[in-house]
Amino acid sequence: MIYNKSRNILTVILLFSFFLLTSGFRSARLTYFVKSRILYKGSFFIVVLEHLDKKKKYRIDFIAGSRTNAYHLKIIRKQTLKLIAIPLGSPDKARLNLVENNEIIMQDEFRLLEKPVETVSVEVKQQYVYPPAGLNKQLWQEQQLVQSVKSILLDKIYFFQTPVRAIAGVTNTSTPFGYKRIFNKSRTNLHFGADLSARAGTPVHSVFDGVVKLSRELYFTGNTVFVHHGDNLVSLYAHLSKISVTNGQKIRKGDIVGLVGATGRVTGPHLHLGVFINGLAIDPMSLYEILK
Ligand SMILES: [Zn+2]
Repeated sequence: MIYNKSRNILTVILLFSFFLLTSGFRSARLTYFVKSRILYKGSFFIVVLEHLDKKKKYRIDFIAGSRTNAYHLKIIRKQTLKLIAIPLGSPDKARLNLVENNEIIMQDEFRLLEKPVETVSVEVKQQYVYPPAGLNKQLWQEQQLVQSVKSILLDKIYFFQTPVRAIAGVTNTSTPFGYKRIFNKSRTNLHFGADLSARAGTPVHSVFDGVVKLSRELYFTGNTVFVHHGDNLVSLYAHLSKISVTNGQKIRKGDIVGLVGATGRVTGPHLHLGVFINGLAIDPMSLYEILK
């Protein structure tokens, strides 16, 4: 076991204290809390449920526009926590259904806000804007691989730390999550992670306990590490100069997964940190904001 029980209990208490301050829905048989009524697109929220019946099957459907994301609940303790991602591009209103044995037993509504984003111009090697046609098969395979690595089920609680401990103890975000980028004035895409400024060779620490699920070089993200932290939470560390972990390795929060570098599609050394909940990208910084 790599997980520390007393720390998990402490984390539950910490998280739960947030929810005691907020409004929630209660019934004799079920307690339901959400931190906030107003949530940001590209962020996430935590649902806390108590008194679920262990004999029944539960699911949370998060419905944003035409898109529904299903979260299956595994009841291990009296209290069940679930991280719910709010995808970028969601409409302004979303709904949450709590489903018990395929029947909706509770509904909730949320107003979704947008964080201001900017468009930034980026200059990279042309091969990263228009990859050579001969690489089509490799790129397709890499895309499938990354897709499969993004979601898995393990039941754990979370606590986070900044993955790069900058020299002065401060980490700057050079390109925030959700920004639009124009590569070499011709191709546009959305930034599904946060770029953290750091010198090449700076150690990169895992944000939490977990299992390394992928550690290899990929075309766009260079030397890449994916770590599973339990439930549907996955973190990604990209553009490393060196990878220090191997596939299947169990690691603790703070363990070094590699060194900051400039491999793949980059303009210079930095850490690209990605966080996925249920396979959906969220702003890694929102984790720190909520647990601060
Ligand atoms: Zn990035």
